[in-house]
Amino acid sequence: MSAASGLPGVTPGPVRTCVGCRARAAQATLLRLAWDEAVQAVVVDQRRRLPGRGAWLHPDQACLDQAVRRKAIGRALRRPVAGLPVGSLAMGSLAMGSGTLATERGTSDSQGA
Ligand SMILES: [Zn+2]
Repeated sequence: MSAASGLPGVTPGPVRTCVGCRARAAQATLLRLAWDEAVQAVVVDQRRRLPGRGAWLHPDQACLDQAVRRKAIGRALRRPVAGLPVGSLAMGSLAMGSGTLATERGTSDSQGA
C-alpha cells in the first residue's frame, strides 16, 4: 500500500463550534450537518461536500440532543428543520435509529423483548 501523502504529525485544522454543547473543537473531530436537497432533510454530511451552510456537532448523542432541543441545527443552517438528522451520528460506529447496539455483554440483566 503506497501512501499518497504522509502528514507529519498533527496539523491544527480549523476550529468550529459544536451546535450542541457550544464547545469549540477542531473541525476534524466534529460532524458536519447540512441540508440535503435530495432528501429534503438534514443529513450527516460524512464527506463534507454538501453545498450551503453547515452545522457542526460532536459525534455524541448528548450534543445531538442539545442541538435538537435548542433547534440549533435549524438556526445554524438558516432554515426550518424538523426532526433528527439523517445518517450515522458517530463516525461509522453508531447508527442512528437502528435501535440498541449490542456492544456490551456479560450483564446479568436480560433484555427481553
Ligand atoms: Zn458538542
